[in-house]
Amino acid sequence: MAKSKFEYVRQFETQDPCLPNTWIVIRLDGRNFHRFSTDHGFTKPNDERALQLMNRAAETVMNDFRDIVISYGQSDEFSFVLKKSTMLYSRRASKLMTHIVSQFSSSYVFHWAQHFPDQPLQYPPGFDGRVILYPSNKNLRDYLSWRQADCHINNLYNTCFWALVQQGGMTNKQAEERIRHTFSADKNEILFSEFGINYNNEPEIYKKGTVLVWKRVEETVMKTCRTEEDPVERPREVTKLRKKAVPLHTDIIGDVFWEEHPDILEE
Ligand code: ATP
Ligand code: ATP
Ligand code: MG
Ligand code: MG
Ligand code: MG
Ligand code: MG
Repeated sequence: MAKSKFEYVRQFETQDPCLPNTWIVIRLDGRNFHRFSTDHGFTKPNDERALQLMNRAAETVMNDFRDIVISYGQSDEFSFVLKKSTMLYSRRASKLMTHIVSQFSSSYVFHWAQHFPDQPLQYPPGFDGRVILYPSNKNLRDYLSWRQADCHINNLYNTCFWALVQQGGMTNKQAEERIRHTFSADKNEILFSEFGINYNNEPEIYKKGTVLVWKRVEETVMKTCRTEEDPVERPREVTKLRKKAVPLHTDIIGDVFWEEHPDILEE
């Protein structure tokens, strides 16, 4: 194709390939979701519908970008880990990040009504994104542990805060002051002695967030084909093994999860 005299401006584009042979982590986070959650009547501290919608959007992303080996989500954030050897978009950071974040955002909106049948979407939500490279398996595991520990710390705080407000009749300010200088053990004790809540019995999805991993599942599909017995092509049910992203609400800080899923770090 003939080039125009304007073509030179392309040279101003900068290359941003990710370092080879490193884990590529892309984390996205809802923009101003404190307000978004209030405007859309999220149950506090944890709205189950909102968490399931986040997981649904993340599942779409995994199905679209199959070089993702594991994802982890909590609150309004999700992290996607691309295999070290991926050559998707020539490892260009901005391409990878924008594709994943925009696919997630549109999927979040696309599936909204299914998860919030009685709550119309008031305005389009947005998500930010960042790319982080981790050179070692330990760094990657520590990253995921960091996010899960964050989930636990915030959830314990929020569970305690909202118990004081919703059941204890405190104002937000009073509740905040009451727990500002407390340790985990104190919050557990407040929950148990004042509200009869055993934090350990809270749902795992709240305490641990969601891990999405690939699982091979049998899937029955219709396919027009012939068989050894019947040489005529016709639609038939065939069983195929397919990789499917499945959600788990489990500990990923300890070794057990990684021993049970050795393939993740081998990719
Ligand atoms: P920023 O744009 O800087 O990320 P933010 O308001 O989104 O600002 P975050 O630190 O990301 O701040 O926190 C997200 C907030 O969204 C939480 O503090 C909580 O109030 C709300 N939120 C997210 N998910 C849920 C949920 N499932 N249930 C209830 N509230 C939620
Ligand atoms: P990539 O993912 O690499 O961007 P692409 O298929 O989106 O692949 P583009 O070079 O971005 O390729 O081209 C966009 C294509 O989308 C056009 O070639 C055209 O076929 C189609 N398209 C976009 N907008 C319109 C439109 N308004 N009407 C008809 N076709 C359109
Ligand atoms: Mg933030
Ligand atoms: Mg946010
Ligand atoms: Mg957040
Ligand atoms: Mg295009």
